[in-house]
Amino acid sequence: MYGRTPITLDDFMDGLVKRNPGEPEFHQAVKETAETVLPLVNERKEYREARILERLTEPDRTIIFRVCWEDDKGWFRVQRGYRVQFNNSIGPYKGGLRFDPSVTLGILKFLGFEQTFKNSLTGLPMGAGKGGADFNPKGKSDREVMRFCQSFMSELYKHIGEDIDVPAGDIGVGAREISFMFGQYKRLKNEFTGTLTGKSLEFGGSLIRKEATGYGCAFFMEEMLGHQNNSVHGKTCLVSGSGNVAQYTIEKLIQLGARVVTFSDSSGFVHDPEGVTREKLDYLIHLKNIIRGRVSEYALEFGCEFYHGEKPWKVPADLAFPCATQNEIDETAALLLVENGCIGVSEGANMPTLPEGIHVFQNAGVLYAPGKASNAGGVAVSGLEMTQNSIRLSWSREELEDRLQTIMRKIHDTCVRYGKGDDGKIDYVKGANIGGFIKVADAMLAYGVV
Ligand code: NDP
Repeated sequence: MYGRTPITLDDFMDGLVKRNPGEPEFHQAVKETAETVLPLVNERKEYREARILERLTEPDRTIIFRVCWEDDKGWFRVQRGYRVQFNNSIGPYKGGLRFDPSVTLGILKFLGFEQTFKNSLTGLPMGAGKGGADFNPKGKSDREVMRFCQSFMSELYKHIGEDIDVPAGDIGVGAREISFMFGQYKRLKNEFTGTLTGKSLEFGGSLIRKEATGYGCAFFMEEMLGHQNNSVHGKTCLVSGSGNVAQYTIEKLIQLGARVVTFSDSSGFVHDPEGVTREKLDYLIHLKNIIRGRVSEYALEFGCEFYHGEKPWKVPADLAFPCATQNEIDETAALLLVENGCIGVSEGANMPTLPEGIHVFQNAGVLYAPGKASNAGGVAVSGLEMTQNSIRLSWSREELEDRLQTIMRKIHDTCVRYGKGDDGKIDYVKGANIGGFIKVADAMLAYGVV
């Protein structure tokens, strides 16, 4: 009772589900973490009695607001905006904004919760937050996106600041959206500070930020394979998604000598058996970021197959990099990957693998890295953008890529430290969860009852 005795996973989850009804993604994310962290909490009296896990699964606050804007035809539109300020024990709230019709409070709570561990793993002083709106930028004109972003920021600016909460991009929020929001923030606050990251280089952005999540995801795979005296070089790779994370995962994999044969968007996937080249990747980036087209156009351009409504996991390959969205690898897909010889999975997206899929990978001995470890490169370079903004200096590309690689290596070391079993095998889920948890939990303990 009240932390005096150990609590079972089922009892803990029953309480969480009761307090947070109708939020399945949040339940899923918490359960995946609690499975590995709860034994430690039960074992350590100070964590248990301070009810650290209960406190860690309760956001500091959630802000929900109306966002009205006018479309090009003069119709009024009403959207819902959110910011979940999850935990600021080790630094200002930090995490992306997602603009997608699927956005709900539950999705943002799952993402904010994951962010707590991820940001801690980077070793940088960043707390965790996540936000966004049920707005779909797809099919909207630049002016419509601008009006929405300005209206969204007209409320959000009251709750953020360089030492309070520093949002960034996520699905549906790229350079264009960040620029519109930063412009409005600057106008409303009459200050030029690094309150958003992922900014353009002309106004405080950092080199490598747009590449960071994807590069980090590929680096993490290189670390896992390197630990087994293997490497990415020469491997056939499946990537899903074709947005920011997917594009730069592909770029780094090509640089590391791998062959990337798939990518996707929400309408289906492309199979390019010869592999994506530098030139083809430039076409894809232009297609998705400038023309805002569909990946099926790549298939037409380069004469390869497009599979409507399907995901890439049935294509035989050595490595998989899910970089689109949550819950895109279920048990069947995981089994297919394993049967086809996949030996490693590095998640670029947040929680792309369902729990049943994770168990398949772990039982088959696949090197499986959860997103909170393998996609932490993005927020890490966001942290470095905050530092550069604070000291009003810009570091070079080489310096930043070097720092990114070092951070990914350290995250890998942390996973090995806390995830190595008696048989020498590394449980990257356990390693990332415990490695991320301890720093935040110890800070919360130090603050007393807050
Ligand atoms: P983008 O909006 O740039 O790209 C998202 C990609 O995923 C697009 O190709 C999109 O297709 C596809 N996609 C979106 N929803 C679905 C769906 N329901 N089914 C299939 N495909 C889908 O987002 P990011 O690349 O920034 O983010 C991708 C993932 O990485 C997310 O999980 C995000 O949380 C995570 N992440 C992002 C970070 C970052 O720095 N940006 C940092 C860490 C994690 P379409 O073009 O059709 O919409």
